[in-house]
Amino acid sequence: EPDADGLRVDGLNAWYGQAQILHGVSLDVGPGEIIALLGRNGAGKTTTLRAIMGLVRRSARQLAFRGADIGPMPPFAIARRGLGYVPEDRRIFTDLTVDENLEAGRQPPRPGAPQWTPERLFELFPNLGRMRGRPGGAMSGGEQQMLAIARTLMGNPYMVLLDEPAEGLAPRLVEDMAAALLTLKREGLSLLVAEQNLNFARLLADRAHVLAGGATHFSGTMAELDADPAVRDALLAV
Ligand code: ATP
Repeated sequence: EPDADGLRVDGLNAWYGQAQILHGVSLDVGPGEIIALLGRNGAGKTTTLRAIMGLVRRSARQLAFRGADIGPMPPFAIARRGLGYVPEDRRIFTDLTVDENLEAGRQPPRPGAPQWTPERLFELFPNLGRMRGRPGGAMSGGEQQMLAIARTLMGNPYMVLLDEPAEGLAPRLVEDMAAALLTLKREGLSLLVAEQNLNFARLLADRAHVLAGGATHFSGTMAELDADPAVRDALLAV
C-alpha cells in the first residue's frame, strides 16, 4: 500500500552504465520518522539515495512519494514535490557567504511542511549564525555539512535524504548534528539517513534498513537489528 504521506520504494534497481548496482532495494519512510539506511562501504547507500532522486538510471516496482509516482520524474520535479537531498560531498557554494548559500536554496512554503527562515536555521545550527558573512569555503567540513542541510531546508521540504551527515565530524559536532536532526523530526520533517556509523544511527533512528550487495538485507527496529547477530556481522565486519 502506498503511504500517502511518506516514501515507499519497492524493488529498486539502478545502473551505472552497463553495471547494475542495485538489485531490488525496498524501503519505506513514514511521515515524521527518522529511518537509517545502513550498510558497509559499497553496499549501495549512496546509489539508493541518488536513484530515489532520479540522478542515476533506475527502475522500480514502486517509487512513491506523498502518493505520487516519482518513477518517471526528473530530479528537479522530484525536488519540487518537497523531497530534499543532501549529498555526501555537500556541494555548497564555496565562494558565496553562508547567507547567500541559504538564499540560493529558498523556495516557497509548502502546505503542511515545516517552514524555514535563516533565523530559524541559525537557532538549529548556532555555528552558522556566527559565520553568516563568511564564504562557505572558509568553514570546516562539519560546518559545511550543516550549511548543506540548512540550504536544503530553505526549500521547505517534507522529507530529506541525508548521505552520511556525521562523516568526518569532530565528536562534539556529531552530538550537535544528532540533536539538530532530532529537532527536525520534532518539527514534523521525515528523514532517511544513510549511515555507516551504527552508534550515530542508534541516537536517531526509529527503524533501519540494512543494505548488502545492492539489496535490502534487513528491515526492522534498531532493537531487532541489535538482536540479530547475522545482520550485526554484515554491518560490522570489515
Ligand atoms: P560508501 O559508504 O562508500 O558511499 P555506499 O553504500 O554508499 O558506500 P555506493 O556508493 O552506492 O555505496 O556504491 C555501490 C557500488 O556502486 C560500489 O560497488 C561502487 O563501486 C559502485 N559505484 C558507485 N559509484 C559508481 C560510478 N559512478 N560508476 C560505477 N560504479 C559506481
